[in-house]
Amino acid sequence: MSKRDYYDVLGVSRDADAEAIQKAYRKLAMQWHPDRALAEQKAEYENQFKEIAEAYGTLSDEAKRERYDSFARGAGGFGFSVSDIFGAPHWNGGNIPRKGDDVQCLIEVGLGEILTDHRRTVEFVTDDVCQHCSGSGLRPGAPKTPCRDCGGRGIVTDYQNQGDVRIAFQQTCGRCRGQRTVILPENRCSHCSDGRIPATKKIEITIPAGIPSHYVFRIPSLGRHGINGGPRGDLLAQIVVTPHPRFRRGRDNQNDLLLEMPISFVQACFGDSLSVEMIDGSTAEVVVPPFCQNGHTVVIKGQGVPHVARRARGDLWVRLSIQTPTSLTSEQRVLLSNFDILERAKHVHQKSDAQSKGSSFEPVQKEENQNSRQENGGEASGEAGKKDG
Ligand SMILES: [Zn+2]
Ligand SMILES: [Zn+2]
Repeated sequence: MSKRDYYDVLGVSRDADAEAIQKAYRKLAMQWHPDRALAEQKAEYENQFKEIAEAYGTLSDEAKRERYDSFARGAGGFGFSVSDIFGAPHWNGGNIPRKGDDVQCLIEVGLGEILTDHRRTVEFVTDDVCQHCSGSGLRPGAPKTPCRDCGGRGIVTDYQNQGDVRIAFQQTCGRCRGQRTVILPENRCSHCSDGRIPATKKIEITIPAGIPSHYVFRIPSLGRHGINGGPRGDLLAQIVVTPHPRFRRGRDNQNDLLLEMPISFVQACFGDSLSVEMIDGSTAEVVVPPFCQNGHTVVIKGQGVPHVARRARGDLWVRLSIQTPTSLTSEQRVLLSNFDILERAKHVHQKSDAQSKGSSFEPVQKEENQNSRQENGGEASGEAGKKDG
């Protein structure tokens, strides 16, 4: 009665990631789908298909997978009771009411949309009771059959030897999922699987201003139907704030915005005042100070994203980025060359001035420097004569 390991069922390793598990499941589910079976293979295909679905149902759910792994390691996690050492378990079966599975959806919102609260219609897929069989999953008038895997008890028992001790683990029967009965293929409702049909639904959600990306709304009772009369699962709607072409959200403070502002080398030297469009469409003045260095940041108060609870807006950080021209006209080239000569000369003068304030023999060096500069600029004979001397 021992069940196959879920990882073996899907043919994946124990450290397989969610993507690998989903890929394996899709492939196997397609391969073993009961619709592909010949009449005499029907039962085998259905069993395989169920086993695959059950393995996937557990391994694709992070919390369930963790519990399963801890069980598999012999730790006995939640849902699997280490009930009775040396003996048969005494448990009254698995048909206790259970909450239905949660369903998920993503809500994409632009960065510019979270400046104010706004309503959004969200579509998601859940399930509904099949109208043809009223949720029983049975063809009209057909009976349910006691499950032979668990003998109609709804639970199965696995044994593990740990040293001299034999431990019994109980878990819900995988074939009937604790229902104690199964529906034979010939008795199945032709409109649904297990009394449920997929249903696409819509709901309107208010997305509050300033919501952080990846925030998850849990909306109760919109998930899948419960089992054995249990409540419906929940809808988990995750917010994804999509990038803005100009503004980025602060990494440390999600209420601040960052803007990269290109300025020219000349603007950086002289300073400037720029009219910049804010994320809400208004304009604000950004003052570039004279002799501004690359990466200089100007903060504009209250032009960020609202704080989700306090409502006050964060700040906008404008980072000035000095751009180098990608081409020059011949006239610009001459002007820049002249600028370069003057800039170098300025540095030499500055250096000389600094040295003149230093030790007593330095003025001599200064003169020499000045002489050599003149010589370099004019006649070469002077320098030769100096070397001779
Ligand atoms: Zn049905
Ligand atoms: Zn069973």
